[in-house]
Amino acid sequence: MSAKVFVITGPSGVGKGTLIKQLLERVPNLALSVSATTRDPRAGEVDGTDYHFLTEERFQERIAAKDFLEFATYSGNHYGTLNSELDRCLESGRSVVLEIEVQGATQVRAARPDSVQIFIAPPDESVLRERLVGRGTDSAEAIDRRLKTAEQELAQQDDFNHRIVNDDLSRAADELESIVREATNS
Ligand code: 5GP
Repeated sequence: MSAKVFVITGPSGVGKGTLIKQLLERVPNLALSVSATTRDPRAGEVDGTDYHFLTEERFQERIAAKDFLEFATYSGNHYGTLNSELDRCLESGRSVVLEIEVQGATQVRAARPDSVQIFIAPPDESVLRERLVGRGTDSAEAIDRRLKTAEQELAQQDDFNHRIVNDDLSRAADELESIVREATNS
């Protein structure tokens, strides 16, 4: 198996997290990169496991120190992938999965042209609102902001090597698994 960087993106509410969880259960030797963010932790989220939760000041310091492979502002908060996180995984011989939004994916494409870029698309846009409302983690205002961003993200889906429509979880998980296995010869 050769170590690769997989970028998995798609609009908020499309089910990226659930698909990635299944992927990690199905394919060995994959590591999920833990991103840094300035957003507040949601109930149950653990610092260092779900995200590295940073203050605005600390995030800016790490930008200045060039610690990020990529970073972006999304719905009023900053998110970024630390180079150290990527190196830690790759040095252990594992492939790395980045779950990031589209601006960050574009930066990774430029920095690492050998990364495998996968866009997860909804069967139709109404599903996104239903999922975000059902998840219950965001205010009505935050959901509206996320849906507006989703429109811009969907407009860029053709820039990705692979596109998976998440109309059926188990079928979409099969598709994701085969893309990853093919790229890593595993
Ligand atoms: P959430 O607030 O729902 O956890 O994440 C919001 C968006 O930020 C999601 O689309 C998620 O994939 C994206 N995101 C999470 N971590 C990163 C990161 O390190 N970089 C970028 N560019 N986006 C990220």
